[in-house]
Amino acid sequence: MKDKRILIVEDNSDLSMLTKLALTKVGYTVVCASNGEEALKYIETSGMPDLILLDMKMPVMDGWEFSRIYKSRFPKSAAPIIVMTAAQDSEARATEIGAEAFIGKPFELQELFASVNKMVS
Ligand SMILES: [Mg+2]
Repeated sequence: MKDKRILIVEDNSDLSMLTKLALTKVGYTVVCASNGEEALKYIETSGMPDLILLDMKMPVMDGWEFSRIYKSRFPKSAAPIIVMTAAQDSEARATEIGAEAFIGKPFELQELFASVNKMVS
């Protein structure tokens, strides 16, 4: 688990910080972007993370546009995406953008850890 880098793309800064704190505590390196455009910039300058946690509704660049550009720009090296959105929509959103997994908001930390561990181990 050490040395695994997770990129959180979420415009709700409270949720982003809480998620970052929780994942940092269990040993992940976590960076946050507040929208898709920031996330793409991060990947271009700092390299591909091991996993992306993606919110869908965000200003500037939402999760749909992000995933479209992300997949066309990094067709070979793309890290898996866990969609993180309202529980009733999360599975549909994940299918829509071809994400590897989904977590419904609000989520328990145990759910988050289980999902993340499964994707990066
Ligand atoms: Mg949002």
